[in-house]
Amino acid sequence: MALNIILLGPPGAGKGTQASRLVEERGMVQLSTGDMLRAAVAAGTEIGLKAKAVMAAGELVSDEIVDGILSARLDEDDIGRGFILDGYPRTAVQAASLDRLLAAKGLKLHHVIELEVDEDALVDRITGRFTCARCNTPYHDRYKLPQTPGVCDVCGSTEFKRRPDDNEEAVRTRMAEYRAKTAPILPHYQAQGIVRRVDGMATVDEVSAAIGAILDG
Ligand code: ADP
Ligand code: ADP
Repeated sequence: MALNIILLGPPGAGKGTQASRLVEERGMVQLSTGDMLRAAVAAGTEIGLKAKAVMAAGELVSDEIVDGILSARLDEDDIGRGFILDGYPRTAVQAASLDRLLAAKGLKLHHVIELEVDEDALVDRITGRFTCARCNTPYHDRYKLPQTPGVCDVCGSTEFKRRPDDNEEAVRTRMAEYRAKTAPILPHYQAQGIVRRVDGMATVDEVSAAIGAILDG
């Protein structure tokens, strides 16, 4: 059965890393609103123009914009393979929109996986983060280098990039946004009995194994 999940955790918790593993290993679809917004910024669309400065500052893009792009993405054919929401929902308004969208599209949420992390470690994780410029696979200067130096493990590209908002000041703002607006949506899912906690401070492989056990359980 195709499973639909949310990965929830502060910036740097490992959501993108674990989502890309699930895509590779289980053929699930990664729905990263951050990636969708960065693509809009790169393409210079109207949404991209509105989102660019907000993202650079580490603040949240408006619920209206994000709900719109997610709704359109949920209409695509590959959604039936099971999806991983990575970076959405981030506010109570988005959680309510998601409930409505899923109901309207006849989709169900199976698990909300909360990555529990030590916030002090996150600045270090984020400021060392870089990704493949072609396929977005995440790497880290110390914790996860490509197996062959300078070559993406997944797609073989030799181009990498760093995000403009992965600096300490924007990261502090993103953490504050998470605490103020995103963490408070957890009780909404706890009430549905679908929250599972995973120790996000373990190694990438250990976190993957813990998530795998939840999905297979
Ligand atoms: P998020 O999507 O939650 O913001 P990422 O998956 O991009 O987080 O991870 C942030 C950085 O930390 C990346 O450079 C990634 O390689 C690294 N990272 C992810 N998970 C771990 C882990 N379990 N241990 C150490 N480093 C990790
Ligand atoms: P991270 O991996 O560090 O958690 P993301 O890539 O998910 O960060 O998001 C980067 C930025 O994109 C956020 O700081 C915010 O400006 C914007 N963004 C992404 N998803 C959302 C969302 N669901 N609601 C509002 N803003 C979002």
